[in-house]
Amino acid sequence: MKNIYLNIFSFNKKILRKCIASLKKGNVVGLPTETVYGLGGNAYSKVAVQKIYNLKKRPKKNPLIVHYLNYKDANKDVIFNRDFYTLYKKFCPGPITFVLKKRNISKIQSLVTAKLNTVAIRFPSHRTTRSVLKKLDFPLAMPSANLSSGISPVNAQDVSDEFKKRIKIIINSGYSKIGIESTVVSLIGKPKILRPGIIEAKTIKKYLKINVLKKNSKIISPGMLKKHYSPGIPVLLNQNNADSNCALVTFGKKYKNKRNYFNLSKKSDLKEAASNLYKTFRKIKKQGFKKICVVKIPNVDAGIAINDRLKRAAN
Ligand code: AMP
Ligand code: MG
Repeated sequence: MKNIYLNIFSFNKKILRKCIASLKKGNVVGLPTETVYGLGGNAYSKVAVQKIYNLKKRPKKNPLIVHYLNYKDANKDVIFNRDFYTLYKKFCPGPITFVLKKRNISKIQSLVTAKLNTVAIRFPSHRTTRSVLKKLDFPLAMPSANLSSGISPVNAQDVSDEFKKRIKIIINSGYSKIGIESTVVSLIGKPKILRPGIIEAKTIKKYLKINVLKKNSKIISPGMLKKHYSPGIPVLLNQNNADSNCALVTFGKKYKNKRNYFNLSKKSDLKEAASNLYKTFRKIKKQGFKKICVVKIPNVDAGIAINDRLKRAAN
């Protein structure tokens, strides 16, 4: 699809300068990360943060992740602990978010943290976004660049489709490699996984004792809300086939090529399936299907994160 809003740009020095100027003025920009595309704004600016919530129509009680270049930058806003250093050394920069105590002197807007005394922080590895962060003297509050409760965007066109001409700059860097949101780990008290991601609980467990939240545990992260990541049409899970007006999302080589079949990974690779999940949902919607049926996805490895998103999409 052509970019009719003229807000998608390739990354170069000129657009980097424009992007920085825009962020400094309190505007928001669409940026690629290794997980999904984000809607970034100055986390210290009330105007910028309000723009993020307004554009996304995000409930004010759902806090934002704050993005930094490295731990030195984050040190002025949050209080680190040993568990943080352990995981930072292993996984950062990368697709993992830490919930930590906010410092009293932090300049992070209270809206960013939904007035909590904790902050979710991340250090993205994507080169483009790192080049942007390098030029700023403030961190970026950056949720996924989509309307609240919908599915995250995995390329620049998706972001443009979500916000039309309401954002002026979206930097294009092709498809996000990982394709689903970061793993969220709370490091307040005993470490807990709040949102599964491509960095799996079992990998984190090699370095740290962690709790995986049980099905009915109290919602302590607003992103755990049951309905989320919804493509806007009904999603049915654990299906084996689908009528011709319904798309069937498949996994593995046993499924044939049919007009309404969309394979997440022919070679049964769960990471590949994760990277194709939102891409596939958007494709299905654009083709006009009214319903999405999904075959059973193995609930192991990256399949845990996929099933987490699917369950919420189906809610
Ligand atoms: P998104 O911005 O769409 O990637 O979602 C951010 C995720 O981080 C959501 O699940 C939020 O609820 C979660 N989050 C952000 N800040 C906090 C916090 N202070 N405590 C717990 N969860 C948080
Ligand atoms: Mg989101």
